[in-house]
Amino acid sequence: MTLNPAPNSFRTGPDERGRFGIFGGRFVAETLMPLILDLEKAYADAKADPSFKADMEAYRTHYIGRPSPLYYAERLTEHLRAQAPAGQGAKIYFKREELNHTGSHKVNNVLGQILLARRMGKPRIIAETGAGQHGVATATLCARFGLKCVVYMGAVDVERQAPNVFRMKMLGAEVVPVQSGTRTLKDAMNEALRDWVTNVADTFYCIGTVAGPHPYPAMVRDFQSVIGIETKQQMLEMEGRLPDSLVACIGGGSNAMGLFHPFLDDREVEIYGVEAAGHGVQSGLHAASLTGGRPGVLHGNRTYLLMNEDGQIADAHSISAGLDYPGIGPEHAWLHEMGRVTYLSATDSETLEAFKLCSMLEGIIPALEPAHALSKVLELAPTKPAEHLMVMNLSGRGDKDIPQVAQIFGQTL
Ligand SMILES: *Cc1c(COP(=O)(O)O)cnc(C)c1O
Repeated sequence: MTLNPAPNSFRTGPDERGRFGIFGGRFVAETLMPLILDLEKAYADAKADPSFKADMEAYRTHYIGRPSPLYYAERLTEHLRAQAPAGQGAKIYFKREELNHTGSHKVNNVLGQILLARRMGKPRIIAETGAGQHGVATATLCARFGLKCVVYMGAVDVERQAPNVFRMKMLGAEVVPVQSGTRTLKDAMNEALRDWVTNVADTFYCIGTVAGPHPYPAMVRDFQSVIGIETKQQMLEMEGRLPDSLVACIGGGSNAMGLFHPFLDDREVEIYGVEAAGHGVQSGLHAASLTGGRPGVLHGNRTYLLMNEDGQIADAHSISAGLDYPGIGPEHAWLHEMGRVTYLSATDSETLEAFKLCSMLEGIIPALEPAHALSKVLELAPTKPAEHLMVMNLSGRGDKDIPQVAQIFGQTL
Protein backbone atom coordinates (compact mmCIF):
# COMPACT_ATOMS: atom_id res chain seq x y z
CA MET A 1 0.00 0.00 0.00
CA THR A 2 1.44 3.35 -1.02
CA LEU A 3 1.06 6.20 1.41
CA ASN A 4 0.06 9.63 0.24
CA PRO A 5 2.59 12.42 0.66
CA ALA A 6 1.96 14.35 3.89
CA PRO A 7 -0.44 17.16 3.04
CA ASN A 8 -0.04 20.74 4.23
CA SER A 9 -3.57 20.50 5.51
CA PHE A 10 -5.76 17.60 6.54
CA ARG A 11 -8.88 19.63 5.79
CA THR A 12 -8.65 20.18 2.03
CA GLY A 13 -10.03 16.83 0.84
CA PRO A 14 -11.58 15.35 -1.16
CA ASP A 15 -10.13 16.19 -4.60
CA GLU A 16 -12.40 16.90 -7.59
CA ARG A 17 -12.92 13.17 -8.16
CA GLY A 18 -13.99 12.73 -4.57
CA ARG A 19 -10.77 11.01 -3.49
CA PHE A 20 -9.09 11.17 -0.11
CA GLY A 21 -5.73 9.79 -1.25
CA ILE A 22 -6.62 6.39 -2.71
CA PHE A 23 -9.92 6.24 -0.80
CA GLY A 24 -13.40 7.50 -1.66
CA GLY A 25 -14.33 8.23 -5.28
CA ARG A 26 -17.56 7.24 -7.01
CA PHE A 27 -17.78 3.66 -8.16
CA VAL A 28 -21.35 3.68 -9.42
CA ALA A 29 -23.40 2.36 -12.33
CA GLU A 30 -23.42 4.55 -15.44
CA THR A 31 -27.14 5.20 -14.89
CA LEU A 32 -26.49 6.73 -11.48
CA MET A 33 -23.83 9.16 -12.68
CA PRO A 34 -26.17 11.97 -13.89
CA LEU A 35 -27.91 11.92 -10.49
CA ILE A 36 -24.66 12.12 -8.60
CA LEU A 37 -23.43 15.01 -10.74
CA ASP A 38 -26.75 16.79 -10.27
CA LEU A 39 -26.47 16.43 -6.53
CA GLU A 40 -22.86 17.62 -6.50
CA LYS A 41 -23.81 20.76 -8.41
CA ALA A 42 -26.87 21.45 -6.23
CA TYR A 43 -24.78 21.08 -3.06
CA ALA A 44 -22.05 23.40 -4.38
CA ASP A 45 -24.72 26.02 -5.23
CA ALA A 46 -26.37 25.67 -1.82
CA LYS A 47 -23.04 26.06 -0.02
CA ALA A 48 -22.46 29.35 -1.81
CA ASP A 49 -25.97 30.66 -1.09
CA PRO A 50 -26.35 32.71 2.13
CA SER A 51 -30.09 31.92 2.26
CA PHE A 52 -29.33 28.17 2.54
CA LYS A 53 -27.01 28.88 5.44
CA ALA A 54 -29.61 31.11 7.11
CA ASP A 55 -32.26 28.37 6.74
CA MET A 56 -29.90 25.81 8.29
CA GLU A 57 -29.18 28.13 11.22
CA ALA A 58 -32.84 28.80 11.88
CA TYR A 59 -33.89 25.14 11.92
CA ARG A 60 -30.84 24.14 13.95
CA THR A 61 -31.86 26.60 16.63
CA HIS A 62 -35.64 26.23 16.71
CA TYR A 63 -36.20 22.64 15.58
CA ILE A 64 -33.11 20.62 16.56
CA GLY A 65 -32.28 22.63 19.68
CA ARG A 66 -28.69 23.64 18.93
CA PRO A 67 -26.13 24.50 20.11
CA SER A 68 -25.82 21.32 22.16
CA PRO A 69 -24.07 21.87 25.53
CA LEU A 70 -20.42 21.07 26.17
CA TYR A 71 -20.73 19.52 29.62
CA TYR A 72 -18.04 18.97 32.27
CA ALA A 73 -18.46 15.36 33.49
CA GLU A 74 -17.26 16.15 36.98
CA ARG A 75 -18.11 12.95 38.84
CA LEU A 76 -16.69 10.75 36.10
CA THR A 77 -13.52 12.88 36.09
CA GLU A 78 -13.17 12.55 39.88
CA HIS A 79 -13.93 8.83 39.78
CA LEU A 80 -11.10 8.23 37.32
CA ARG A 81 -8.67 10.56 39.12
CA ALA A 82 -9.19 8.54 42.31
CA GLN A 83 -7.80 5.50 40.45
CA ALA A 84 -5.01 7.35 38.60
CA PRO A 85 -1.48 8.09 39.89
CA ALA A 86 -1.18 11.46 41.72
CA GLY A 87 -1.53 14.47 39.41
CA GLN A 88 -3.09 12.40 36.64
CA GLY A 89 -6.57 12.00 35.23
CA ALA A 90 -7.86 14.14 32.37
CA LYS A 91 -10.71 16.61 32.79
CA ILE A 92 -13.55 15.05 30.80
CA TYR A 93 -16.18 16.92 28.79
CA PHE A 94 -19.17 15.48 26.92
CA LYS A 95 -20.46 17.09 23.73
CA ARG A 96 -24.14 16.41 24.29
CA GLU A 97 -25.54 15.42 20.90
CA GLU A 98 -28.02 13.14 22.68
CA LEU A 99 -30.04 16.26 23.53
CA ASN A 100 -30.86 16.96 19.88
CA HIS A 101 -34.44 16.46 18.68
CA THR A 102 -34.81 12.71 17.88
CA GLY A 103 -32.02 11.87 20.32
CA SER A 104 -28.82 11.67 18.31
CA HIS A 105 -26.45 13.54 15.98
CA LYS A 106 -28.15 11.99 12.90
CA VAL A 107 -30.60 14.88 12.60
CA ASN A 108 -27.79 17.41 11.89
CA ASN A 109 -27.11 15.70 8.58
CA VAL A 110 -30.72 14.93 7.70
CA LEU A 111 -31.70 18.58 8.11
CA GLY A 112 -29.01 19.59 5.60
CA GLN A 113 -29.99 16.95 3.04
CA ILE A 114 -33.73 17.60 3.33
CA LEU A 115 -33.25 21.36 2.83
CA LEU A 116 -31.14 20.46 -0.21
CA ALA A 117 -33.85 18.10 -1.54
CA ARG A 118 -36.36 20.95 -1.25
CA ARG A 119 -34.07 23.26 -3.23
CA MET A 120 -33.79 20.57 -5.90
CA GLY A 121 -37.58 20.17 -6.02
CA LYS A 122 -37.52 16.47 -5.09
CA PRO A 123 -40.79 15.44 -3.39
CA ARG A 124 -39.79 11.85 -2.52
CA ILE A 125 -37.05 10.96 -0.01
CA ILE A 126 -35.48 7.53 0.43
CA ALA A 127 -33.09 6.42 3.17
CA GLU A 128 -31.38 3.30 4.52
CA THR A 129 -31.30 2.56 8.21
CA GLY A 130 -29.75 -0.02 10.55
CA ALA A 131 -30.74 0.61 14.16
CA GLY A 132 -33.39 3.00 12.93
CA GLN A 133 -31.96 6.29 14.21
CA HIS A 134 -31.25 7.66 10.74
CA GLY A 135 -34.63 6.39 9.54
CA VAL A 136 -36.39 8.16 12.42
CA ALA A 137 -34.49 11.41 11.80
CA THR A 138 -35.35 11.26 8.08
CA ALA A 139 -39.01 10.43 8.72
CA THR A 140 -39.14 13.34 11.19
CA LEU A 141 -37.83 15.96 8.76
CA CYS A 142 -40.04 14.56 5.97
CA ALA A 143 -43.08 14.97 8.21
CA ARG A 144 -41.98 18.51 9.05
CA PHE A 145 -41.72 19.47 5.36
CA GLY A 146 -44.53 17.31 3.95
CA LEU A 147 -42.31 15.04 1.86
CA LYS A 148 -42.94 11.40 0.98
CA CYS A 149 -40.53 9.14 2.88
CA VAL A 150 -39.49 5.53 2.15
CA VAL A 151 -37.01 3.86 4.52
CA TYR A 152 -35.17 0.66 3.56
CA MET A 153 -34.32 -1.53 6.54
CA GLY A 154 -32.92 -5.06 6.70
CA ALA A 155 -35.63 -7.55 7.70
CA VAL A 156 -33.48 -8.68 10.64
CA ASP A 157 -33.21 -5.09 11.88
CA VAL A 158 -36.96 -4.54 11.41
CA GLU A 159 -37.47 -7.29 13.98
CA ARG A 160 -34.67 -6.18 16.34
CA GLN A 161 -35.68 -2.51 16.35
CA ALA A 162 -39.47 -2.65 16.61
CA PRO A 163 -39.89 0.64 18.56
CA ASN A 164 -38.05 2.64 15.88
CA VAL A 165 -40.07 0.95 13.13
CA PHE A 166 -43.24 2.04 14.90
CA ARG A 167 -41.84 5.56 15.32
CA MET A 168 -41.12 5.88 11.59
CA LYS A 169 -44.64 4.72 10.73
CA MET A 170 -46.14 7.18 13.22
CA LEU A 171 -44.24 9.90 11.39
CA GLY A 172 -45.84 8.85 8.12
CA ALA A 173 -42.92 6.96 6.56
CA GLU A 174 -43.16 3.70 4.65
CA VAL A 175 -40.70 1.12 6.02
CA VAL A 176 -39.58 -1.50 3.48
CA PRO A 177 -38.07 -4.68 5.00
CA VAL A 178 -35.13 -5.86 2.85
CA GLN A 179 -34.93 -9.63 2.41
CA SER A 180 -31.67 -9.90 0.40
CA GLY A 181 -28.20 -10.87 1.66
CA THR A 182 -27.78 -10.84 5.43
CA ARG A 183 -30.95 -8.69 5.67
CA THR A 184 -29.10 -5.93 7.55
CA LEU A 185 -27.77 -2.40 6.93
CA LYS A 186 -25.52 -3.09 3.93
CA ASP A 187 -28.41 -4.79 2.11
CA ALA A 188 -30.72 -1.89 2.95
CA MET A 189 -28.18 0.48 1.36
CA ASN A 190 -27.96 -1.68 -1.79
CA GLU A 191 -31.75 -1.61 -2.07
CA ALA A 192 -31.90 2.18 -1.59
CA LEU A 193 -29.30 2.67 -4.35
CA ARG A 194 -31.44 0.47 -6.62
CA ASP A 195 -34.55 2.51 -5.86
CA TRP A 196 -32.66 5.72 -6.63
CA VAL A 197 -31.65 4.57 -10.14
CA THR A 198 -35.22 3.55 -10.98
CA ASN A 199 -36.88 6.72 -9.64
CA VAL A 200 -34.52 9.27 -11.12
CA ALA A 201 -36.89 12.19 -11.63
CA ASP A 202 -38.51 12.75 -8.24
CA THR A 203 -36.31 11.03 -5.63
CA PHE A 204 -33.55 12.26 -3.31
CA TYR A 205 -31.40 9.66 -1.51
CA CYS A 206 -30.61 10.80 2.05
CA ILE A 207 -27.55 8.78 3.20
CA GLY A 208 -27.05 8.50 6.96
CA THR A 209 -23.27 8.51 7.36
CA VAL A 210 -20.01 9.62 5.71
CA ALA A 211 -20.17 6.73 3.20
CA GLY A 212 -21.49 6.20 -0.33
CA PRO A 213 -20.20 7.77 -3.56
CA HIS A 214 -18.82 11.32 -3.72
CA PRO A 215 -20.18 13.89 -2.79
CA TYR A 216 -21.88 12.12 0.15
CA PRO A 217 -18.87 11.55 2.44
CA ALA A 218 -17.82 15.22 2.21
CA MET A 219 -21.38 16.58 2.31
CA VAL A 220 -22.41 14.57 5.37
CA ARG A 221 -19.15 15.56 7.08
CA ASP A 222 -19.89 19.23 6.37
CA PHE A 223 -23.38 18.97 7.85
CA GLN A 224 -22.02 17.21 10.95
CA SER A 225 -19.11 19.63 11.38
CA VAL A 226 -21.38 21.88 13.42
CA ILE A 227 -20.43 19.51 16.29
CA GLY A 228 -16.73 20.34 16.11
CA ILE A 229 -17.23 24.01 15.32
CA GLU A 230 -19.40 24.46 18.42
CA THR A 231 -17.01 22.40 20.56
CA LYS A 232 -14.08 24.60 19.60
CA GLN A 233 -15.95 27.78 20.45
CA GLN A 234 -17.40 26.41 23.69
CA MET A 235 -14.03 25.11 24.88
CA LEU A 236 -12.40 28.48 24.16
CA GLU A 237 -15.14 30.15 26.21
CA MET A 238 -14.96 27.67 29.11
CA GLU A 239 -11.23 26.94 29.33
CA GLY A 240 -9.64 29.65 27.20
CA ARG A 241 -7.89 27.11 24.98
CA LEU A 242 -8.37 24.12 22.68
CA PRO A 243 -8.99 20.63 24.06
CA ASP A 244 -6.01 18.27 24.25
CA SER A 245 -7.89 15.26 22.90
CA LEU A 246 -11.11 14.19 21.17
CA VAL A 247 -12.79 10.78 21.35
CA ALA A 248 -15.75 9.50 19.27
CA CYS A 249 -17.28 6.17 18.28
CA ILE A 250 -17.39 5.01 14.67
CA GLY A 251 -20.05 3.15 12.73
CA GLY A 252 -19.76 4.75 9.29
CA GLY A 253 -17.99 7.60 11.03
CA SER A 254 -20.25 10.68 10.76
CA ASN A 255 -20.42 11.81 14.40
CA ALA A 256 -16.64 11.33 14.61
CA MET A 257 -15.91 13.25 11.37
CA GLY A 258 -18.21 16.03 12.56
CA LEU A 259 -16.28 16.45 15.79
CA PHE A 260 -12.82 15.83 14.32
CA HIS A 261 -12.82 17.82 11.08
CA PRO A 262 -12.56 21.37 12.47
CA PHE A 263 -9.59 20.21 14.61
CA LEU A 264 -7.60 18.25 12.02
CA ASP A 265 -5.08 21.04 11.46
CA ASP A 266 -4.65 21.75 15.17
CA ARG A 267 -1.90 19.16 15.29
CA GLU A 268 -1.41 19.38 19.04
CA VAL A 269 -4.94 17.96 19.51
CA GLU A 270 -4.85 14.14 19.86
CA ILE A 271 -7.74 12.44 18.06
CA TYR A 272 -9.14 8.97 18.78
CA GLY A 273 -11.81 7.06 16.84
CA VAL A 274 -13.34 3.99 18.48
CA GLU A 275 -14.62 1.08 16.40
CA ALA A 276 -16.83 -1.75 17.66
CA ALA A 277 -14.78 -4.84 18.54
CA GLY A 278 -17.83 -7.00 19.33
CA HIS A 279 -16.61 -10.23 20.92
CA GLY A 280 -13.01 -9.14 20.21
CA VAL A 281 -11.19 -8.46 16.91
CA GLN A 282 -9.52 -11.90 17.11
CA SER A 283 -12.92 -13.63 17.38
CA GLY A 284 -13.99 -12.56 13.89
CA LEU A 285 -17.27 -11.32 15.40
CA HIS A 286 -16.75 -7.56 15.24
CA ALA A 287 -17.34 -4.38 13.20
CA ALA A 288 -13.81 -2.93 13.34
CA SER A 289 -13.12 -2.23 9.64
CA LEU A 290 -9.82 -0.38 10.16
CA THR A 291 -8.47 -2.64 12.88
CA GLY A 292 -9.59 -5.92 11.29
CA GLY A 293 -10.36 -5.20 7.62
CA ARG A 294 -8.63 -4.27 4.37
CA PRO A 295 -9.26 -1.90 1.43
CA GLY A 296 -11.95 -2.72 -1.13
CA VAL A 297 -14.98 -1.16 -2.82
CA LEU A 298 -18.52 -1.05 -1.39
CA HIS A 299 -21.49 1.28 -1.86
CA GLY A 300 -19.73 3.48 -4.38
CA ASN A 301 -16.43 4.19 -2.60
CA ARG A 302 -13.07 2.64 -1.83
CA THR A 303 -12.37 2.18 1.85
CA TYR A 304 -11.47 -0.37 4.54
CA LEU A 305 -13.97 -3.25 4.63
CA LEU A 306 -14.56 -6.47 6.49
CA MET A 307 -14.01 -9.24 3.94
CA ASN A 308 -13.46 -12.98 3.88
CA GLU A 309 -10.52 -14.55 1.99
CA ASP A 310 -12.46 -14.46 -1.30
CA GLY A 311 -13.10 -10.73 -0.99
CA GLN A 312 -16.77 -11.22 -0.13
CA ILE A 313 -18.13 -8.67 2.34
CA ALA A 314 -18.20 -10.31 5.77
CA ASP A 315 -20.89 -9.89 8.40
CA ALA A 316 -20.28 -7.21 10.98
CA HIS A 317 -21.10 -7.89 14.60
CA SER A 318 -21.66 -5.43 17.43
CA ILE A 319 -23.88 -5.19 20.49
CA SER A 320 -24.83 -1.85 19.01
CA ALA A 321 -26.90 -2.05 15.81
CA GLY A 322 -25.78 1.51 14.97
CA LEU A 323 -22.14 0.40 14.63
CA ASP A 324 -22.95 -2.80 12.75
CA TYR A 325 -21.58 -1.76 9.33
CA PRO A 326 -18.82 -3.69 7.49
CA GLY A 327 -17.18 -0.49 6.18
CA ILE A 328 -16.05 2.95 7.33
CA GLY A 329 -16.15 6.38 5.71
CA PRO A 330 -13.27 6.87 3.22
CA GLU A 331 -11.95 9.98 4.96
CA HIS A 332 -11.34 7.89 8.09
CA ALA A 333 -9.46 5.30 6.02
CA TRP A 334 -7.25 8.13 4.77
CA LEU A 335 -6.75 9.73 8.20
CA HIS A 336 -5.80 6.27 9.46
CA GLU A 337 -3.17 5.84 6.75
CA MET A 338 -1.88 9.39 7.31
CA GLY A 339 -1.58 8.68 11.03
CA ARG A 340 -3.52 11.84 11.97
CA VAL A 341 -6.22 9.93 13.88
CA THR A 342 -5.60 6.94 16.16
CA TYR A 343 -8.20 4.20 15.79
CA LEU A 344 -8.98 1.97 18.76
CA SER A 345 -11.69 -0.59 19.32
CA ALA A 346 -14.00 -1.46 22.23
CA THR A 347 -15.60 -4.85 22.93
CA ASP A 348 -19.26 -5.43 23.82
CA SER A 349 -18.43 -6.11 27.47
CA GLU A 350 -16.19 -3.02 27.85
CA THR A 351 -19.07 -1.03 26.36
CA LEU A 352 -21.63 -2.36 28.85
CA GLU A 353 -19.37 -1.39 31.77
CA ALA A 354 -19.07 2.15 30.43
CA PHE A 355 -22.84 2.28 29.83
CA LYS A 356 -23.47 1.46 33.51
CA LEU A 357 -20.84 3.87 34.83
CA CYS A 358 -22.12 6.83 32.82
CA SER A 359 -25.69 6.20 33.98
CA MET A 360 -24.70 5.87 37.66
CA LEU A 361 -22.15 8.71 37.86
CA GLU A 362 -23.54 11.35 35.55
CA GLY A 363 -27.26 10.65 35.41
CA ILE A 364 -27.02 10.26 31.65
CA ILE A 365 -28.02 6.97 30.01
CA PRO A 366 -25.92 6.95 26.83
CA ALA A 367 -26.68 5.04 23.63
CA LEU A 368 -24.57 1.89 23.25
CA GLU A 369 -22.69 3.55 20.37
CA PRO A 370 -21.07 6.38 22.41
CA ALA A 371 -20.63 3.93 25.31
CA HIS A 372 -17.93 2.41 23.04
CA ALA A 373 -16.14 5.78 22.98
CA LEU A 374 -16.61 6.16 26.72
CA SER A 375 -14.98 2.79 27.42
CA LYS A 376 -11.79 4.11 25.79
CA VAL A 377 -12.09 7.40 27.71
CA LEU A 378 -11.99 5.23 30.86
CA GLU A 379 -8.65 3.82 29.67
CA LEU A 380 -7.12 7.01 28.25
CA ALA A 381 -8.07 9.62 30.87
CA PRO A 382 -6.05 8.11 33.79
CA THR A 383 -2.88 8.11 31.60
CA LYS A 384 -3.10 11.88 30.98
CA PRO A 385 -2.08 14.74 33.31
CA ALA A 386 -4.83 16.47 35.32
CA GLU A 387 -4.72 19.59 33.15
CA HIS A 388 -5.45 17.54 30.01
CA LEU A 389 -8.84 18.46 28.48
CA MET A 390 -10.61 15.50 26.86
CA VAL A 391 -13.84 15.80 24.84
CA MET A 392 -16.04 12.79 24.11
CA ASN A 393 -18.89 12.97 21.61
CA LEU A 394 -22.02 11.71 23.37
CA SER A 395 -23.67 10.94 20.02
CA GLY A 396 -27.03 9.66 21.26
CA ARG A 397 -29.23 8.79 24.20
CA GLY A 398 -29.81 5.26 25.43
CA ASP A 399 -33.60 5.05 25.51
CA LYS A 400 -33.65 2.98 22.32
CA ASP A 401 -31.26 0.46 23.90
CA ILE A 402 -33.13 -0.12 27.16
CA PRO A 403 -34.98 -3.31 26.08
CA GLN A 404 -31.75 -4.87 24.77
CA VAL A 405 -29.64 -3.96 27.79
CA ALA A 406 -32.37 -5.14 30.18
CA GLN A 407 -32.37 -8.49 28.42
CA ILE A 408 -28.57 -8.77 28.64
CA PHE A 409 -28.70 -8.01 32.37
CA GLY A 410 -31.41 -10.67 32.75
CA GLN A 411 -34.22 -8.27 33.61
CA THR A 412 -37.72 -8.42 32.20
CA LEU A 413 -39.47 -5.12 31.47
C1 LIG B 1 -25.91 5.90 13.95
C2 LIG B 1 -25.25 6.22 15.21
C3 LIG B 1 -23.84 6.13 15.35
C4 LIG B 1 -22.94 5.60 14.28
O1 LIG B 1 -22.93 6.34 13.10
P1 LIG B 1 -21.71 7.28 12.72
O2 LIG B 1 -21.99 7.65 11.31
O3 LIG B 1 -20.46 6.51 12.89
O4 LIG B 1 -21.75 8.44 13.63
C5 LIG B 1 -23.27 6.51 16.55
N1 LIG B 1 -24.02 6.95 17.58
C6 LIG B 1 -25.37 7.04 17.49
C7 LIG B 1 -26.13 7.52 18.67
C8 LIG B 1 -26.03 6.68 16.30
O5 LIG B 1 -27.36 6.77 16.22
